Amino acid sequence: MALAVFDAIAERGTLIAEAGTGTGKTFAYLVPALLAGGKVLVSTGTRTLQDQVFAKDLATLIRALGLRIDAALLKGRQNYLCLQRLALAQAEGRLPSRQEATHLRAIVRFAQVTASGDRAELAEVPESAAIWPLVTSTRENCLGQECPQVEECFVYRARRAAQAADIVVVNHHLFLADLALRDDSVRDFLPASDTVVLDEAHQLPKIAADFFGTGWSLAQLADLAQDARALGLAKAAGGAAWVPLSQGIEAAARNLRLLLAESGLGIGTRIALDRCAARSTLRRGIAGVDETLVALAGAVKANAGRDVELDALAPRLAALRSEIATWIAALDEHAGQGPADPAADEGEEAEETEQRVRWIAVTAHGAQFHATPLAPGEAFARARAQQAQAWILTSATLTLAGSFAPFLAEIGLPQARTERWESPFDFQKQALLYLPRPLPSPLERDFPERVADAVWPVIAAAGGRAFVLCSTLRAVERVAARLKELMGRDGLVLPLLVQGTSTRRALLDEFRRGNAVLVGSVSFWEGIDVRGEALSVVAIDKLPFAPPDDPVVEARIRRLKALGRNPFLEYQLPEAVTLLKQGVGRLIRDERDHGVLMILDERLLGRPYGRTVLASLPAFARTRDEDVARAFFAAPAA
Ligand code: SF4
Repeated sequence: MALAVFDAIAERGTLIAEAGTGTGKTFAYLVPALLAGGKVLVSTGTRTLQDQVFAKDLATLIRALGLRIDAALLKGRQNYLCLQRLALAQAEGRLPSRQEATHLRAIVRFAQVTASGDRAELAEVPESAAIWPLVTSTRENCLGQECPQVEECFVYRARRAAQAADIVVVNHHLFLADLALRDDSVRDFLPASDTVVLDEAHQLPKIAADFFGTGWSLAQLADLAQDARALGLAKAAGGAAWVPLSQGIEAAARNLRLLLAESGLGIGTRIALDRCAARSTLRRGIAGVDETLVALAGAVKANAGRDVELDALAPRLAALRSEIATWIAALDEHAGQGPADPAADEGEEAEETEQRVRWIAVTAHGAQFHATPLAPGEAFARARAQQAQAWILTSATLTLAGSFAPFLAEIGLPQARTERWESPFDFQKQALLYLPRPLPSPLERDFPERVADAVWPVIAAAGGRAFVLCSTLRAVERVAARLKELMGRDGLVLPLLVQGTSTRRALLDEFRRGNAVLVGSVSFWEGIDVRGEALSVVAIDKLPFAPPDDPVVEARIRRLKALGRNPFLEYQLPEAVTLLKQGVGRLIRDERDHGVLMILDERLLGRPYGRTVLASLPAFARTRDEDVARAFFAAPAA
């Protein structure tokens, strides 16, 4: 793999490399990248891997190779304290709760001692604390070179360090923000690299869809209202009625939220605009928001030139209004039409040319209005074509039954060179795929209970040490309840950790202590690394197909059908298999690990595509016999 990476660097080509768990792929790309010279950018999907590559692998290799190389770690701007906004939050002094005031005091103390301004260093203020948006910056509210604090600014300092470094470790969000021209100031250094390595590349299509998409949200309106009030009062008190103006925006946002609820779009709704029956109500609410923005824009204009921060509200308002205008235009276009009929979606010519789907997500605290591209790979490929660099895309999970074709199509690089390196682990000895007889059918009403019944004997034999991954949160509850019953029945009480009862980190820390059973949803396994004996059973209730009624999934299916292609084979199946392989990859992390995988979905054996799924998994030993599965723990093969 290192030689292939070296060749790709020399040719400034593109290499798509699948390297199974345990191949040492990080070293295989870092060594040639470091030796080839030039500037290198490494991007990872998760922050965990980003920190690991920087602090562990890269540091080790630079030492071992005796290189004099400058390396830098760079995160997205929201990870660093913004000194300007911190000063504003202090000056305003109006925080909604006492807890936020406590957090603000901790942040002020932190700002005086930190060298990096990285909020991850301040453990006492939780990641989810409401104070963070007030003391970190966004592209919209950052003053950039106009900022009086730019010399001391943590964001700019980190970026300058990255600019000067030979190798920079970023994450896909930052990398794609740059490619999608979402953050102009990042442009200064990212394109200057000679080599780009994209690790965890299987995540790129999804993240690309977000970054090449556009949108706005009620949270954005709340931030804007808050900033306008604080800035107006601090910099141009008397210049306009700042408080009523910002209250107007907040009231319009609340009204829109209310209209969504009254239209039946409750918390958790994700709906495509053309499926939404209440479009005229929606238009009224959005137009109401726009009117309040117009009023604020007028006030900002009337005070132009008084203060640079206040002036910076003008482009921010303009960008938000132009995004909102596209929604009003789309709603006008649909005016008078009823909601689209999901059953009558084929052959609709308008759909065929549709390149993005507009959809609404209603959350507990707000709502987001998205326009997501349906072929994110096209934008990705265009961006790739503009860069004369070597690009290495790598991951443990890129192929479907050995074929790169679905990933290449998805990422928009059908001609790229591909290579595969199998995992060196002995899956025949180290792991067992146990498919109980009979396998439950996901269509049955008591499916979650049957899943629990089927996994319990194996969990009991292993003495816990199990992840049970379910497709829905409802299934998580039901499986957990049944497992509790079974533990009581058999007098074998193991720590039962259930998603939603504590934070993810707390559940994982508890799990690592041993002998626990963790029941979580499919999303729970991403980015989790539990090595050794603590995790010896992974049970998955269903093949993890994305819900076909999700607005983006549904629109992508419609588009592929309209193009005469096969959405199931080209999109849904490869996505599900990638996710499944990620989950399976949690089980065996090194040569000493061993464990049992269970997939409790009869479609695996009952449907033709089940063969493709099985052919995509590592070559585990296989059994349908419960005794064999239980005996695996009596006499471990590894
Ligand atoms: S330059 Fe931007 S991020 Fe930095 S302190 Fe100023 S406003 Fe904040």
